[in-house]
This record gives sequence, structure tokens and C-alpha cells, in this order.
Amino acid sequence: MSIDRRARGLILINTGNGKGKTTAAIGTAFRALGHGMRVGMIQFIKGKWKTGERKLGEQTPNLTWLTMGHGFTWESLDLDRDRKAAQAAWEIARTWLMDESYDLVVFDEITYIINYGFVALDQVCAALQARRSDLHVILTGRDAQAELISVADVVTEMQPLKHPYGDGVQAQKGIEF
Ligand code: ATP
Ligand code: MG
Repeated sequence: MSIDRRARGLILINTGNGKGKTTAAIGTAFRALGHGMRVGMIQFIKGKWKTGERKLGEQTPNLTWLTMGHGFTWESLDLDRDRKAAQAAWEIARTWLMDESYDLVVFDEITYIINYGFVALDQVCAALQARRSDLHVILTGRDAQAELISVADVVTEMQPLKHPYGDGVQAQKGIEF
């Protein structure tokens, strides 16, 4: 059997409650960048800290890094503002799926904005299926929807076996953010 090595765009999902969803996506982005591939990253939720990956990502050649969300949605007092930020991010994400400028796009924490009802699940699935056929896409976030899983090619569920957070250990720079 011969192996077809032509570029075939894959959809990957990193989900589950364990640590490693976003960092694995960034590891894959780093791998692609090493081959001279062009990568787009949209972070749908902005956390408390300016993360190390964001600091580096915003100044890395061949990488477009957008942090679009407002705060942690679950800490927010302004759902309407969060909804608008999420929808604006999705509008950019949707154009990237058709854009010749990228080889890989990462939509970080996108599952939350779907679960919050800010963006419709069927719209996201349809846009993913209509994307440029050689574009790779990585989606991250907990509680990936069954419909999203069914359109994906690779789905990994991170399972937490241990985390020192439960023992009161605070988030450590370079590891958690
Ligand atoms: P990472 O960004 O480290 O790959 P993640 O994307 O899998 O983590 P998120 O659900 O996006 O995890 O949570 C973001 C923050 O919560 C990160 O600081 C991460 O290290 C931390 N975290 C992830 N999983 C756990 C867990 N099971 N218990 C405590 N903290 C966690
Ligand atoms: Mg994450």
C-alpha cells in the first residue's frame, strides 16, 4: 500500500479536564513553525496573566497570535461584552479557515464560547468542514461537544491523575502561565 504524502488538512481536538490542552497545541504549532509553516493562533479566552507563550507568540515570525476574549468568562460580570468579543474572534477564525496565508490554525479554548452559546455549534462544524482542504486545525478546551468530535480526525482527552493545585500550590510561572 502506498502512502499518500500530499498535504491533507487534519482537525485535532485537545479536550478533557487534565492539564496540557493548550500547551500541546502550542507544541504542535512550534513543530509546524520549524518546517517554515505559517501558523495562526486565536485565544478565545484571555486569562488573568500575560502568559509566556503569548509574549513569545506575539513576536514570532510566521506566527499570527491574537488574544481576543475578555477575562475569564466565568469570572466576568459582563456577559454581553464577552459575547461580542467571542463573536468578533469567531468572525476572524472563520475567515482564517478559508485563508491561503496559514498552514495551521489553533482556536484555543473555543469549546467554552460554544458551550456558553456565544457561537452556534452547527456554524462552527459547518465552517470547519468547508475549510481549505489542506489546512490543519487544532481546537482546545474542556467538554468538547460530540458534534465537534465527530468532524475531527484526532481527538485527545487529557485526564488529570495528579495536580498540586488541590494541595494549595499556586500556579507556577513557566508551567501554568
Ligand atoms: P495548559 O495551558 O497548561 O496546557 P490546559 O490548556 O489543559 O493547560 P485549561 O483548562 O486551559 O488547561 O486551564 C488553564 C490553566 O489551568 C493553566 O494554568 C493550567 O496549567 C491549569 N490547569 C489545567 N488543568 C488543571 C487541573 N486539572 N487542575 C488544576 N489546574 C489545571
Ligand atoms: Mg487551555
